[in-house]
Amino acid sequence: MKLYNTLTRQKDDFVSNEPGVVKMYTCGPTVYHFAHIGNLRTYMMEDVLEKYLRWEGYDVQRVMNITDVGHLASDADTGEDKMLKGAKREKKTVAEIAKFYTDAFFADCKKLNIRIPDVIEPATSCIDNYISIISSLIEKEYAYLAGGNIYFDTSKLDKYYVFNDFNEDDLAVGVRDGVGEDENKRNKTDFVLWFTKSKFEDQEMKWDSPWGVGYPGWHIECTGISIKNLGEKLDIHCGGIDNAFPHHTNEIAQSEAYLGHKWCNWWFHVMHLNTNTGKMSKSKGEFLTVSLLQEKGYDPLAYRFFCLQSHYRKSLVFSWENLDNAVTAYNKLVARVAALNANGEAVDEKEVEKYNAQFKEALGNDLNTSLGVTALYDVLKAKTNDATKIEIIRSFDKVLSLGLLEAAEKINSAVEEAPAVSEEDKEVEQLIEQRQAARKAKDFKTADAIRDQLNAMGIVLEDTPQGVKWHR
Ligand code: AMP
Ligand code: ZN
Repeated sequence: MKLYNTLTRQKDDFVSNEPGVVKMYTCGPTVYHFAHIGNLRTYMMEDVLEKYLRWEGYDVQRVMNITDVGHLASDADTGEDKMLKGAKREKKTVAEIAKFYTDAFFADCKKLNIRIPDVIEPATSCIDNYISIISSLIEKEYAYLAGGNIYFDTSKLDKYYVFNDFNEDDLAVGVRDGVGEDENKRNKTDFVLWFTKSKFEDQEMKWDSPWGVGYPGWHIECTGISIKNLGEKLDIHCGGIDNAFPHHTNEIAQSEAYLGHKWCNWWFHVMHLNTNTGKMSKSKGEFLTVSLLQEKGYDPLAYRFFCLQSHYRKSLVFSWENLDNAVTAYNKLVARVAALNANGEAVDEKEVEKYNAQFKEALGNDLNTSLGVTALYDVLKAKTNDATKIEIIRSFDKVLSLGLLEAAEKINSAVEEAPAVSEEDKEVEQLIEQRQAARKAKDFKTADAIRDQLNAMGIVLEDTPQGVKWHR
């Protein structure tokens, strides 16, 4: 497939290090709050990438971390640990909120048909790995101790800004507006690998280390967890575009300094979901969650459909009107799939191949999901039998995961169940009519017998001035 690479700034033919195997790492959520639907746009597009690679026959080994320590409020290694902030907000322990929001994240993934990666590692479970990498970086003189913290020395690298030829003065996090400079840093771009001197004495999560009791920086966790689980060479590293700098830039700096060779070939970044007032962000406090969409009556899969209709490398504007349009289109699509009837017909394998090739052209060209959706409509219009159409939709939906066949089946079984219920109701109504007739004829014995028969069926009768009413 052709896949855009932030590192080369172009679409290249994807080649993995090991034939047939893709080692893929994903920056997971910081679990101090619910994931918002912007975060989930990123996870959904990464899910499509993983599933497409599987669809092409790759064995994808995917690892994701859960950030439950070390992600500070500011990129400049200052500010409070986000986890501690969340714990204070909810008057709980850090461990409690980590568990609660990790579970909530997986529940959201399930609702959106996002496959959970094979390996999930909370950052707090790999402390020894970070300590060993940091020790080696100090030994190689890529890292130094200052003011109690361990910093990575970016001046030791030939090129620090790997993704873009940024202007160093504009990008150095220490000089951004409102961000205080850390006096301990030798260079503005240096970053913390291990904190012991957090200005927040109440940091809950602390571990012993050769440099004192403390906790790891955010960037080192992804390097540690990736190398621990996927080895020294990574094929694809994913994240939202805001992760490219400084997080991914710092990951590359420390990983390659530690390994002594190139670490990851492909960098896959998803552009943001914005509202008309700007980027959707957790730290702003107000954001949309999947549960909120559901409370408003939206099917989470309609949101997935909304996201798949646009390209992952374009920012996407969320509005209720846009979502409503996606809901209408999604429901129509499901209704058209529900109208297909395989009727024991034979699948035309040639047609399946033809449409799979069209799908491959779309998804295989830098994951063009909107053309993938167009291919779905083309299948529905195709001059082939319904059994073949169903087979092709099943194939596409292994990647798109819109739950089309499942939703269609629900519609069809609801239609089938409806007459069965009314048949039963009809019988009840008939018996009530017979009972009324018996009462009119003063045949109380028959009337009572019918009532007993209805009771035995679980039907309760109520004689009201408006006539006989019944319920189960
Ligand atoms: P966080 O939980 O803040 O660490 O972010 C989880 C993921 O969501 C990361 O890959 C971020 O880059 C990504 N992300 C953050 N904000 C947005 C947004 N508005 N749209 C899409 N992805 C985002
Ligand atoms: Zn990361």
